[in-house]
Amino acid sequence: MNTDAFKKELYQTINLYFDKNGISKLANDQMKAKLVIAGVWWSGSLILLYTFSATPFIFVPLYGLHLFSHLFIMLNISHDANHFAIVDNGMFKKALRYSLDLCGINSYMWRQLHNHQHHNNMNVLGEDDGLVARGLLRFTRHDKHRFVHKFQHLYLFLVYSLFSLDYIFLKDFECFFFPFLDGLKGKKHPRIEYVKLFLFKLGYVGYVIVLPIYFLGFSVGLVIAAFCFWHLFIGIVGAIIIQVEHPLRANEFPTSRNEYEDYIYHVFATTSDHSYNSLFGNWFYGGLNLHVIHHLAPRICHTHYRALTAEIRPIAEKYGVTYKANNTIFDAIKEHYLHLRNLGLQKD
Ligand SMILES: [Zn+2]
Repeated sequence: MNTDAFKKELYQTINLYFDKNGISKLANDQMKAKLVIAGVWWSGSLILLYTFSATPFIFVPLYGLHLFSHLFIMLNISHDANHFAIVDNGMFKKALRYSLDLCGINSYMWRQLHNHQHHNNMNVLGEDDGLVARGLLRFTRHDKHRFVHKFQHLYLFLVYSLFSLDYIFLKDFECFFFPFLDGLKGKKHPRIEYVKLFLFKLGYVGYVIVLPIYFLGFSVGLVIAAFCFWHLFIGIVGAIIIQVEHPLRANEFPTSRNEYEDYIYHVFATTSDHSYNSLFGNWFYGGLNLHVIHHLAPRICHTHYRALTAEIRPIAEKYGVTYKANNTIFDAIKEHYLHLRNLGLQKD
């Protein structure tokens, strides 16, 4: 295999796409439209919430409409923003990264977990945070099998429903104070990030829980119950969209980041795309469905991924590298489910 030639052709083709179309790798019109949609969804739902929530029956759905804007923002804005893949302007590009903190997730720690850990170690146990679920799920045959894993295909989606609540209230703090990934153990973080962690978490709880109680006059119990109720849906939808590209039956699970001759093979071996032709998927999943190109070039805005995927697919084929994809997200979910069922029942 001529790795240098393969790499050169891949990246030349990617660069040529932008040159020949005379466009930037950052936000195009579609991404600018998404930024507007995110802003309108977030602020509009907040206005509706505070204008029309006369009874709990109106409050609960409007509250859900607002909380779901967070999922759209995290998938479509925050991911690219934290890869610096939206704008070039120094102030604006840094400010956009805090969109994640607005949604309750610490953006600094997210960059540690995602940009450093995940992007360098896809499907590597102990380094990739996508393979961690508090020991409840076994994602790779390299992980120890426990009795409870026999039933993991039955409770998989129940665990995923707790994904966002766990992330907001536990995981961020745990990663700062009791890190579970090898790359984070012993790592020193700037003091200001600890201050931001507590400040932004308090700000989040104040804005999504305390303000509705104070201004709308609903009981603490009702607002907290509505918050948890919607987060069960946000958690399950978010976790599925994030998880169905890597831990799948067709993908490989290397034991270290150096298992392949080059990182480029690590990407193709551990990643599967999905929903290439889905209008909704390409609009809502924030490009996570076209994940191979994301790992090859994370600093490119996700609204270019579909065109770039069409460019890189034949090159992989030419060099005999398997490009893996599922037609729809349901096929990808099935592959993820069957992978976990096989690992649980030790059919691996
Ligand atoms: Zn990424």
